[in-house]
Amino acid sequence: MRQRAARDQKRLDSGAVTSPKDLESLQRELASLAKRQGALEDIVLEVMERREAAQERATELSGRVEAVQAKADDVTARRDAACAEIDAEAETVTKERELTVADIPADLMKLYGRLRERHGGIGAARLYQRRCEGCRLELDITELNDIRAAAADTVMRCENCSRILVRTPDSGL
Ligand SMILES: [Zn+2]
Repeated sequence: MRQRAARDQKRLDSGAVTSPKDLESLQRELASLAKRQGALEDIVLEVMERREAAQERATELSGRVEAVQAKADDVTARRDAACAEIDAEAETVTKERELTVADIPADLMKLYGRLRERHGGIGAARLYQRRCEGCRLELDITELNDIRAAAADTVMRCENCSRILVRTPDSGL
């Protein structure tokens, strides 16, 4: 369009066009071309503005993606560390259990296993300040007297929940 306008302008300036009718038509065409050029320039400007806004948005979004990714990486690393810690602890506890089990008579282990299965994983409970820590009930005086009278290696059980009671210096006997 610019080329056409330049060509028209050149013809107009050259003086080659002499007929008033041709001159008028040429000037009209030049005016129309200028108007269309202005309209096209407005469109180009608008497109550039929209492209700029889109680029800004794209930059903002990729920044957010990076932030979310960093957060996800951090959480994953923390989860992995926690899992490793749990695995190590489980290994230690398993070894400790094996050592402990070796010193316990087989029939007592069998009883413990049965109680543990029946009572949600807890087959033995500490007797703490006259209370069974398995069912949380306080033992009555008769039970306490029986336990006091029993030999240290006698297996005592809670009359309420039937779990094996483990006596300690804090049992309140
Ligand atoms: Zn109990």
